[in-house]
Amino acid sequence: MKQNVLIVGAGIGGLATALRLAKKNYNVEIVEKNSQAGGRVNRICKDGFTFDTGPSFFSMSYEFEKFARDCGIQLPFRYHAVDPLYTVNFRNHPQTYQLYRDITKLAAQFEGIEPDFAAKMERYLDKSREIFDSTIDIVVRQNFDSLRDYFSKLMKVNPALLPVLFTNFWNHISRYFSSEEARQIISLVSFFLGRTPFNTSAVYSLLSYTEFRHDGYFNVEGGMYKIVEGFVNELREAGVKITYNTEIIHATQKGNRLLTLTDQNGVSHSADLFVINADAAAFRGKIFKRRAFNERHLDRMGWTMGVMTLYIGINCKLPQVHLHNYYLGNNFREYAGKVFRRPQTSETPYYYVNVISRHNPNCAPENAEALFFVVPVPDLRFKPCWDDRDRIADNILADFSTRIGQDIRPHIVSSTIYTPLDWESRFNLYRGSGLGLAHDMLQVGAFRPRNYDEVFPNVFYVGASTVPGTGLPMTIISSKLTTERIEKKHL
Ligand SMILES: Cc1cc2nc3c(=O)[nH]c(=O)nc-3n(C[C@H](O)[C@H](O)[C@H](O)COP(=O)(O)OP(=O)(O)OC[C@H]3O[C@@H](n4cnc5c(N)ncnc54)[C@H](O)[C@@H]3O)c2cc1C
Repeated sequence: MKQNVLIVGAGIGGLATALRLAKKNYNVEIVEKNSQAGGRVNRICKDGFTFDTGPSFFSMSYEFEKFARDCGIQLPFRYHAVDPLYTVNFRNHPQTYQLYRDITKLAAQFEGIEPDFAAKMERYLDKSREIFDSTIDIVVRQNFDSLRDYFSKLMKVNPALLPVLFTNFWNHISRYFSSEEARQIISLVSFFLGRTPFNTSAVYSLLSYTEFRHDGYFNVEGGMYKIVEGFVNELREAGVKITYNTEIIHATQKGNRLLTLTDQNGVSHSADLFVINADAAAFRGKIFKRRAFNERHLDRMGWTMGVMTLYIGINCKLPQVHLHNYYLGNNFREYAGKVFRRPQTSETPYYYVNVISRHNPNCAPENAEALFFVVPVPDLRFKPCWDDRDRIADNILADFSTRIGQDIRPHIVSSTIYTPLDWESRFNLYRGSGLGLAHDMLQVGAFRPRNYDEVFPNVFYVGASTVPGTGLPMTIISSKLTTERIEKKHL
C-alpha cells in the first residue's frame, strides 16, 4: 500500500524531496507557511520589476542534472555559465577586479600586486581539488548512522589533508598568497557559507575549486524562480498537492510516533511519514519542544550571518556595473571580526550587488534596472531592533552611488527592504540567520542536526540546517540523503 508523506515547507529541499518520493510511488502532500513555494528562493513582483529574493546564482550544476536523472525528468529550467564569476571593488581603490575562470586572464588583474599569481593560484587550486576529491563522496554525499560511522568514514580521507581541518581559511590562503588583495578576494567564497575566512575551516577552500576549475557558477534563464516554477509543475504532474498559507505550530504523538501536525487554523494533518523542510534545529526546539534545541541551546549554536537585502528598481541603466559584484571596504580584518556581533558594522558596509536585469531583461521595464543587494549583518541575537533600517539602506545606496560614479538615489522607483526580522518572520529562519546553521567542525557531518528524528521513527528532515549543509546544490544533495534514509527505514 502507498505510504502517505506530509512535507512541511516548500523550499527547494521540500520540493526536491517531494518529487523524489512521488516518483518512488509515495503519496506526497506539502504544507507551506507562505502563499507561494520556494522558501528563500522566492520572488517579489512590484512596480513592474521582478526580483529573486535569495540565491542569485548556483554552483555544482551536475547535482541538479543528477536530480533530474534520478526523477526521470528533463531538468525543468535552463541555466548559463557566468564568466567572469563576479567583480570585486575595494573602497577608494580605482581597480575593479574581474574574477575570470581563465587563470591567465585572472592573473593579469593581479599584475604588480601579487607576484607569480598564476603559479600560486594553480598550486592553491591543486590543493583545493585534492580536498574536494577526498571529501565530496566520503563526507558530503553520505548519510551517517552514528558518530562511529562518521569517524570511520572520515578515516578514509587522505591523512595528508588533516592539517587543513585544523586551520582556518585565512591562514590557509595566506600560505599561498602574500597580498591582502589576493587573500581577501580568493577567500571571499567563505561568505557564501555565511561566515568569514577567519571562522571558516580551510576545508572549505574546496569551494575555490568548484568556482574556478570544476564547474563554475550559473545563472538561470528567466530568473532563479524558474527553478521553483519548474519543480512545482513537475510536482503537479506527479499528483503532489501543495497547500499554502499553512504554518505548522503544534505536534501530537501516539506512543513514540508522530501522529499529527496542527496548523495555525487548528487543522490537524496526519500522515504515515513526515519530512520537515523547516529549519531542522529550530523546528525540533519550537514544535517538538526538544530540550537540546530549546532557545537557550539554539542561541549558543553557531549560525550563519544575518542578512539585510534590498530590492531596488531604478529608471535608468547602469552599463558600468557587472552582473555579480562585491563591494568591500579597507578594514577587512576588523570588519570580519565585528560583522556578526556589532550592529554598527553596517555603517561601513561590505555588500554584494546583482544587476538582475543584466541577465534577465524581462525583470525590469525598458531602460530600467532591477538591483539586488545583500548586506551581511548581525543576526537578531546581536541586533534585535531594526528601526534604523532605512538609514542603513540609504548609507549603502549612497556608498554604491559613489563607487559606480552615478547617483542612483533620484532614480529609485521601487524599493523593498528585508532585515533579519523579515527573514525570520517570513521563512522561520532562526534569528534571521540567512543560511541556517553554520558549518563549524562541530556542526557538520554526524554533528549536524540529523536528517532523521531522535524520537519519532516516522519523522525526517531535509534542507540547509541538516546534512550536508547550506546552498542550493547542498539542498539538492540533502533531498537525496533524506530519500535514502526514508527508503532504508521503510522499504
Ligand atoms: C539572501 C540569500 C542569498 C543566497 N544566495 C545563494 C546563492 O547565490 N546560491 C546558493 O546556492 N544559495 C544561496 N542562498 C542559500 C539558499 O537560499 C538556501 O541554502 C536554500 O534555499 C535552502 O533551502 P531549504 O529548502 O533548506 O530552506 P528554505 O528555503 O528556508 O525552505 C523552508 C520552507 O519551509 C517553510 N516553513 C518554515 N517553517 C514552517 C512551518 N512551521 N510550517 C510550514 N512551513 C514552514 C518556509 O516558509 C520555507 O518555504 C542564499 C540565501 C539567502 C537568504
